[in-house]
Amino acid sequence: MYPLTPSKVYVLDRVNADARCMARMARMLEAIHYPVADVVCITDANLPEVVQELQTLWPPQTVPPGQVRSYMRPLVFTTMDVSSHRPDLRPLLERCPKGTSLNTLSTIFGHMTTAIDQHPHGRDWTENCVCWPTINFGTVTGCSHGCLYCGTGRGGKFLTITLNLEEYIDRVVGPVIECNPWNKVFRMILNGADLITLEPEYGLHELFARKLAQYEGRYGHFHTGSSNVDWLADIEHRDRLVGVWSTTCEAVARDLEPGTGQAIDRIEAGRKCNEMGIPVRYKFKPVIPVRAWRDEYAWIIEQALKRSHPESIGFCLYIWNTYENMSKTLPMDLLDPVCVDAARAAAETMKGVRTGPFPHDTRKEIYRFLIREARRWDKDVLLYISTETRDMWDELKDELGQDPRAYVCGCSSVAVPGRRLALEPGFRCSTYHPTPL
Ligand code: SF4
Repeated sequence: MYPLTPSKVYVLDRVNADARCMARMARMLEAIHYPVADVVCITDANLPEVVQELQTLWPPQTVPPGQVRSYMRPLVFTTMDVSSHRPDLRPLLERCPKGTSLNTLSTIFGHMTTAIDQHPHGRDWTENCVCWPTINFGTVTGCSHGCLYCGTGRGGKFLTITLNLEEYIDRVVGPVIECNPWNKVFRMILNGADLITLEPEYGLHELFARKLAQYEGRYGHFHTGSSNVDWLADIEHRDRLVGVWSTTCEAVARDLEPGTGQAIDRIEAGRKCNEMGIPVRYKFKPVIPVRAWRDEYAWIIEQALKRSHPESIGFCLYIWNTYENMSKTLPMDLLDPVCVDAARAAAETMKGVRTGPFPHDTRKEIYRFLIREARRWDKDVLLYISTETRDMWDELKDELGQDPRAYVCGCSSVAVPGRRLALEPGFRCSTYHPTPL
């Protein structure tokens, strides 16, 4: 796992009663050289103090030389509450310092979303978003990458790691697979977490792949910005896993993603996964038009296609933002002035538009460039735009070479290994169409 250096580690007292959870936590702490004896046990009595402290530990006052700042976030170990009636946490909230959110207590007590159908047709159609409905799982909240364009990366106060994975896999993942025959590939991604950064000590993907292997034709995506993949060689059912990388160019990795390592590391991770027989898919998301973005993205796309063999490559600009928010959160002097001017000029018209802040024509110009660069090196790799508008698909579908109604992409529920779509009557269409058909 990543060599995290948490400023403090906590464990909810109920974890102590479960030997398997304690062993998992001990394994992870040993990997990061954090003494088990220093872990603070959260009880009903000290909860208010712990909650107060968690508000103050991040961001750190100082970062020791050589340390990655975003690796210093506190860790909270807990168990996922998989009961159908979770206890009401509001009485506990009343004892906590003013301003404590119920969300903070919910994560500490493992009241997280266990699984969710992301991108249902109705919502995507209303929001003019082309994607595929896909069920997401997850067992951790928060991420240690610290990306500046990500709310969790910038502001998350701590990472919460649930430890009762066997129970989660049996009581959540198995039943959800059985109840949703249309979903062939499931994402392990919820709550802004990058789960493979905690492997192999965490042991989630071993259990996930084993569960998937109990069902014919079912797979799971690991969705990551990390290059921590060597452990995958020891996963017995790794043929059930599909690797999807959120990736970028070197300038963005260096300046805006302080905890991910270099962009080329992710390509190297893809190459290793190719060798292990794990399908590899790259998603340039978010594409950020830094100065010299053409040279930057051209180089990394060339490397991706020369050094590895992805099944698909996708593109999505920096979206879900306003110009105002972008100027507050990104170092604007690092961005391409022409693109920034276009976003500034469109600030009013793009307000409330999901694909803001860059206007349609700016995004289209960038996509066109990225498509051309990918095609320079590979005539067959499947290309797509991710969570873009129907209008953008209409204009780019010929260059992309795919039909927006049924396209192979990175992390969809129907993109099974081998560049294939596993469609069936009743589920034959992306959210380009208002219904699954
Ligand atoms: S890769 Fe496909 S399924 Fe995943 S977010 Fe993009 S469009 Fe949606």
